[in-house]
Amino acid sequence: MIAEMTAVDLERQLGAYVDYLRDMGVYDLFYRGDPTVLFPEGSLEKHSASAQSEASETPAIPSRFADPARNLAAAPGPDLPDISSEFPSPMAKPPSLDTFAPLPTRTIPAADRLAALESIRAEIGDCKRCPLAYAGRKTIVFGDGDPNARLMFVGEGPGADEDASGLPFVGKAGQLLNNMIAAMGLKREDVYIANIVKCRPPGNRTPEFIEATTCSQFLVQQIDIVRPEVIVALGATAATYLLGVKQSLASLRGHWHSVRGAKVAVTYHPAFLLRDPRQKVEAWKDLQRVMAELGLVAPKRS
Ligand code: URA
Repeated sequence: MIAEMTAVDLERQLGAYVDYLRDMGVYDLFYRGDPTVLFPEGSLEKHSASAQSEASETPAIPSRFADPARNLAAAPGPDLPDISSEFPSPMAKPPSLDTFAPLPTRTIPAADRLAALESIRAEIGDCKRCPLAYAGRKTIVFGDGDPNARLMFVGEGPGADEDASGLPFVGKAGQLLNNMIAAMGLKREDVYIANIVKCRPPGNRTPEFIEATTCSQFLVQQIDIVRPEVIVALGATAATYLLGVKQSLASLRGHWHSVRGAKVAVTYHPAFLLRDPRQKVEAWKDLQRVMAELGLVAPKRS
């Protein structure tokens, strides 16, 4: 029983650490050690039975961690050359959203934008275009906010609360995003909020390349309809797929980027800020640059 709980705790810790690394823009992770060091003998077998019952919220340990023979990155024997560097990177370079369609040459009149967004939602329908449709999603989370917003936030993908409600950023990370928006002197209804993928990835994992690039066609259309002046990419996944770059969040922050005619600022994902609140100071610096660009003034503290 104790060994079983230890394995569950280890798995949670490992999952949180992997999430943290992804927020920092690190995607390519290899475990080079002997898995039995991390997981005492027998605990994985016991754990895999108990993990079945937790399947919806707790990601299972990938089998390559459990089976040393399948661990491609395990230390090579003396007679085997180390060819690990010859394996292609697990994630191909994503296309920029600028390459999905020609940039819009005309602006949709403000009064028609809501209907235009609704027609994109209708086109999505009960989408089955990518594997997320078959991975337990309840709702397609299209987007929310002012169709004429000057500022748009783009996150990664819906979590459990968003999947249940059909609205982006309504859980704990959403509450923090609302506070960030309020600190900028705006209301949530003043901005437009969307995600890279519109369906919840199982266990809140990072969207796969094929899921993100399949769904991006609709985000492109949303951006082209709303025509925000500034887009804030929340976290590394949003930055990666908006800009078509595979760089660390640290190297993307503090610079202006561009997509579909909008200026793009990159900052930390609110979920990351909940895990590491010390970085809120840094995120606030990013938002202040956005405010200066849009001529926004922070409200006086009461
Ligand atoms: N995290 C996201 O990236 N998007 C949401 O909508 C909610 C949480």
